[in-house]
Amino acid sequence: MYGIFSNDSSGPRMGYKHGDTILDLAAVASLGLFDTVSIHTAVFSQPALNDFIASGKTSWQAVGQRINQLLANNEAELDVVRAQVLLAASRATMHLPVRIGDYTDFYAGIHHAENVGRLFRPDGDPLLPNYRHMPVAYHGRSSSIVVSGTPIRRPNGQQLGPDGQPVFGPSRALDFELELGLIIGKSNPLGEPIPVDAAEEYIFGITLFNDWSARDIQRWEYQPLGPFLGKNFGSSLSAWVMPFADLEPFRVAGPAQEPAPLSYLQTGKDGHFNVALDVVLQPAGGSEVVISQSNARHLYWSFAQMIAHHTVNGCNLTIGDVLATGTISGSTPNSAGSLLELSYNGKQPLALPDNRHRTFLENGDRVTLRGWAGPIDKPVQLGDVTGQITPSPEPLAR
Ligand code: CA
Repeated sequence: MYGIFSNDSSGPRMGYKHGDTILDLAAVASLGLFDTVSIHTAVFSQPALNDFIASGKTSWQAVGQRINQLLANNEAELDVVRAQVLLAASRATMHLPVRIGDYTDFYAGIHHAENVGRLFRPDGDPLLPNYRHMPVAYHGRSSSIVVSGTPIRRPNGQQLGPDGQPVFGPSRALDFELELGLIIGKSNPLGEPIPVDAAEEYIFGITLFNDWSARDIQRWEYQPLGPFLGKNFGSSLSAWVMPFADLEPFRVAGPAQEPAPLSYLQTGKDGHFNVALDVVLQPAGGSEVVISQSNARHLYWSFAQMIAHHTVNGCNLTIGDVLATGTISGSTPNSAGSLLELSYNGKQPLALPDNRHRTFLENGDRVTLRGWAGPIDKPVQLGDVTGQITPSPEPLAR
């Protein structure tokens, strides 16, 4: 997995995560160990992955092969320079891996959409009529996407009080959302849609993504224009980006899509991935507890369909854009990807060890999303994303 790190000896640069160590790619390049690869090695010294991503898929493959060769071969080639190129991951400071252009959040988890529909609109059909016809999404805010580990401050905002009048104050329904983030690896010109069968060519890599949500703010503001201040106070992206190609062994068929979508969303290729997803909650002073276990295969729409739909009107994607999937809940209560669902909108508190309970997040709570694929004794792991809740700021004086 690729990321941007710094340490005592040098500023932000590109690294490759290998177990508990980081291969310093800028150092590898400066020692001439990438000389056999056709790439402008200045990309490894940049404070974001964008220039490396822009070098194109052939370069990603060549660099990946060379890294595998170096790591497999480390007895020979790396041994004399080990101290110069390998460092303990625990000694590095991680930075946001990409310079994010735009951020779009889909709603492709059908179980989440149904659960939220039941909670927010109890008298209607849980799915709105368009849901099975297109991967719906909203445009989010990229400026408040932070790297894993950054504290998340409880937002203040308007909520509907018990008497039906709006009140202002700290959110009392702060939540997480278990999502994957796609890092876009190739741009399309404005006006030129990306066909669904070519769409995966536009994905550089995969991250875990937590779209923190203030449900009380969200519920009061979201109609008619959708999420705004209930979402844009912060979202967390993992520090490490898994190359999309690394997911290939875990490709599976998605759920049957009934009714069949319009032809621009139809593809004969399986576009889902069997990636296990865990949500871990750690209260202040408490131990970690897994509160949900889901899987990326529960998404209704595939990554390729999301990209095809996003661009079908000619909208242009840019290298470094983040497309988040939407909350990935499974079909069972213990696989829900948000506290909104796990606590039935606060009506059934979730029991934690040590006699603790949660409806929504409390100050000091740490939420960590984990993802892995393959055999349990030798998993391929996504980069974790974690964040701890800190108290809201004092509301502004009048
Ligand atoms: Ca979301």
